[in-house]
Amino acid sequence: MTYGTSPGERFAFTPGSQISGKLGRTGVISTPHGEIQTPAFIPVGTKATVKGVLPESMKGLDAQALLSNAYHLYLQPGPAIVDEAGGLGSFMNWPGPTFTDSGGFQVLSLGVGFKKVIAMDTETFRSDEVIADNKERLAHVDDDGVTFKSHLDGSMHRFTPEVSMQVQHQLGADIIFAFDECTTLHNTRSYQERSLERTRLWAKRCLVEHGRLTQERSHRPYQALFGVLQGAQYEDLRRKGARDLSGLNEVGISFDGFGLGGALDKENLGTIVSWMCEELPRDKPRHLLGIGEPDDLFIGVENGADTFDCVAPSRQARTSAVFTRDGRVNLSNTKYQRQFAPIDEDCDCYTCTNYTAAYAAHLFRSKEMVAGTLATIHNERFIVRLVDQMRATIESGDFLEFKREFLGRFYVGNPKRQAT
Ligand SMILES: [Zn+2]
Repeated sequence: MTYGTSPGERFAFTPGSQISGKLGRTGVISTPHGEIQTPAFIPVGTKATVKGVLPESMKGLDAQALLSNAYHLYLQPGPAIVDEAGGLGSFMNWPGPTFTDSGGFQVLSLGVGFKKVIAMDTETFRSDEVIADNKERLAHVDDDGVTFKSHLDGSMHRFTPEVSMQVQHQLGADIIFAFDECTTLHNTRSYQERSLERTRLWAKRCLVEHGRLTQERSHRPYQALFGVLQGAQYEDLRRKGARDLSGLNEVGISFDGFGLGGALDKENLGTIVSWMCEELPRDKPRHLLGIGEPDDLFIGVENGADTFDCVAPSRQARTSAVFTRDGRVNLSNTKYQRQFAPIDEDCDCYTCTNYTAAYAAHLFRSKEMVAGTLATIHNERFIVRLVDQMRATIESGDFLEFKREFLGRFYVGNPKRQAT
């Protein structure tokens, strides 16, 4: 079944070069709002804005696409307003491709109370630090959906697979995600099995509702739907989830791509990503949800993930934590008060081209708004460019050498996180 434009014009993925002996590859994602050269880092604008930075500046630092959160935009301003504005990109004056997540992770993480997000370091967290007590939970999951309390005003809401599809169609992003149940590494094995089946049944319902909405809204640009893979740290569940969702075909449609989601133990990130990517079709893109640390990005790319999103670069920037080739540093350190040189000599961003670390450090000390702006532009450019360099070195055959060189310098003094 074809909706609106021909399949070639609406959404496509073309794989390119491969890392020798690995699953990692380059590629091109085509959307109605332009192409994304992969691998690519997709900066997060949670509420239709990258905090403190205008979309023009995000374009200027070569961000190829932006990702917003369906949960936040559902609560405020509400999907009907974004729809009336012509969709997310039009609303926020971003002409390029956009993504929205399904709202599932936010609903469940705010609600069921994950205190630590996706990439969990299991060695340093106990289960009672990760999963909130029952009385603190703001959400309850059943087989039909999730009932949750708004973090804004305490009002009660309910997301089902159908509601998530309706909200994301109104938001109008080029790439949207199926509604899934995100578990933690601390749920029991039997809960993970039940949850994986629930996510599979929700994925089927998402495809049916997505098909209906695509037909009903054929005047709108085509939206690609990605299924979200779960299964926590279990190889059999991860492989089953990937096979189940890539095999689904409801009302003549299947998923356009896949989100690699859920609890991902940092130590085993590469292994878990490779289990899923081995099972997935080569000709569909894979988005690794919520990953943005340099070492995790290298591991994700090497093992077959094509796109990534994470709030960390902007969130950390607002606390004066900035990336350099020699690791992450904090501009609040007194030594930066007299660094009359860029934050990072190697960086080509607007901030490093025009301002000194001393000036940025001064702005942070005096709590000036533009401090966060300059630091966010730098951090987003640093990560976008890092993944762009991964793409270039996959093309030239030098990826593994670039990985060794970059991580060896970035994590000097922290051999555990260096490349092996
Ligand atoms: Zn910079």
